Amino acid sequence: MSLAELVCLVVGMLVEGFLVVLAVSSTIERKGRAVLLSSLACVLVAAGWYGWYALLASESLWLLTLPVLVLLGGLVFFLPFGSSQALKIGRISEQVDEREVMFSREEYQPGTEHYKTYYAAHPKHKAADDRMRRLPELLEPGGRYYDKQAADPIDAVFDKIVALATQVDGQTSPRREAFDAADATATIKAEVLKMGADVVGIAELNPMFVYSHVGRGPEPWGQAIVNNHRYAIVFALEMDYHEVEQAPRLPITRETAKQYLRAGEISVALAKRIRERGYAARAHIAGSNYQIMLPPVAHDAGLGELGRMGYLISPKYGARIRLGAVTTDMPLLPDRPITFGVQDFCEQCLKCAINCPSGAIPVGGRRLVRGVEKWSLNVEKCIRYWRAIGTDCGLCMKVCPYSHPSTMIHNLVRVGCRRSSIARRMSVWGDDLFYGCKQTLPTGPG
Ligand code: SF4
Ligand code: SF4
Repeated sequence: MSLAELVCLVVGMLVEGFLVVLAVSSTIERKGRAVLLSSLACVLVAAGWYGWYALLASESLWLLTLPVLVLLGGLVFFLPFGSSQALKIGRISEQVDEREVMFSREEYQPGTEHYKTYYAAHPKHKAADDRMRRLPELLEPGGRYYDKQAADPIDAVFDKIVALATQVDGQTSPRREAFDAADATATIKAEVLKMGADVVGIAELNPMFVYSHVGRGPEPWGQAIVNNHRYAIVFALEMDYHEVEQAPRLPITRETAKQYLRAGEISVALAKRIRERGYAARAHIAGSNYQIMLPPVAHDAGLGELGRMGYLISPKYGARIRLGAVTTDMPLLPDRPITFGVQDFCEQCLKCAINCPSGAIPVGGRRLVRGVEKWSLNVEKCIRYWRAIGTDCGLCMKVCPYSHPSTMIHNLVRVGCRRSSIARRMSVWGDDLFYGCKQTLPTGPG
């Protein structure tokens, strides 16, 4: 066998191997279209490659052109090319008032003091919020996907999360353990991972990401929030791929509740441990108790980038994560924000916007919002849709190409997307081809 024939054979086997792995992992992911296309590609490539070999086996140089083209394609995908933009954050001059956040506004019931006070100060929100309140609440009868049997246990998990709200803070031990920042950082990160988090980072807490006033939860409504902690320990928990795949049906809400409960338990335990070591610490948990805005703080902690859909996108799990945090005055070494191509990828990929049933995700470019140049989600539209269907939807999270599971194939694509603008362009196209661009919405409860 000549060298050219050997090269042709080896490269052909590599291409076939890649397609077989793609077909197998698509089967495990239950992605019918990708299984079909990769299986078809397996057959066509094998036939084409054999035909090429049979035709040109005696013409060594010509025989090499096909494998060389394939190898060049691989190089173009993985070699660094072009630059990737970082999220542009300018001077942020004002804090957000938690009373104005949609999750707080949902809770203002007509006739209550909060309702009267809030809409006297913000009459422009009143009509739309009243319309929204006429829709059923999450996990309540009337939502399109409501199913009592599935909804009641999820409700019980949310109750457990709310019950944790009283444990977020406490007395700091007067006996302070001496730590240098590097030791403390290594210890804390190891503890958070041991408690079950999938990723952890430290941010220097930007005071502009602390809410100005309490809008929900057990603390007095409207009270000014004082949180002078210097650092935030932020962690992410991966959401189960197959549960997210069932979005917008109830399983995604079951998974959201499960991971928020885990995040709450980890945050409360971590804050307690830090206070026992003599440093102030407060846990921030879902369901009414955040003092800080988690996505931008998680960005500062190096956990990911903010994508078009407004969620944090992590390099390994994409948008398929839930966040938890503890703020503290323990001396720590902050991480730096990371850039891995999300801004460029989202400029070309509109999948979340195309699939968002409420039209809450912008299809256009980024705009300046409180000093940050980003895509701005229309939270009102999103929450209205949640109430109409009775779940927390999550279609955007499901369809995002970054949300694919961490298999060999997807991890290879992630490597290319991090390094090359050509790879990002090819991946947007490939994702639409293999997984389809537009999802069909399910009908009926469940
Ligand atoms: S959760 Fe659903 S409604 Fe909200 S932005 Fe995502 S896709 Fe749109
Ligand atoms: S679906 Fe596409 S556009 Fe939307 S966040 Fe994910 S990568 Fe960005």
